[in-house]
Amino acid sequence: MGLWDHVKPARRPPSPLSVETTERSLKVAWDDGAVTETPFRTLRLECPCAGCIEEWSGKRMLDPATVPEGVRPLKVEPVGNYAVSFLWSDGHTTGIYSWPTLRAIGAPEPAASST
Ligand SMILES: [Zn+2]
Repeated sequence: MGLWDHVKPARRPPSPLSVETTERSLKVAWDDGAVTETPFRTLRLECPCAGCIEEWSGKRMLDPATVPEGVRPLKVEPVGNYAVSFLWSDGHTTGIYSWPTLRAIGAPEPAASST
């Protein structure tokens, strides 16, 4: 009996039906009908790995000035069935983008408004 037998997420996060690269962006079709298209450089700058984000503070360590304008993935690799990783043209490979992370980068939720 694990924790997950008792605690279930309220809503299943969307997962991708397809992931493809266009000339300058990553295009994802989600199972809730949304399609996100994220420029490669944005994805690279949002890299969630421990080298780019300080784990305990969430502080972004990556200096955008070090990321080339034309950065792109040389290879896109699925990680299990929950994430994807990229071999970036600037040599960075350690970022694992889970589906919720990928979705959040591609389609930031608008700030909740109380009106
Ligand atoms: Zn990284």
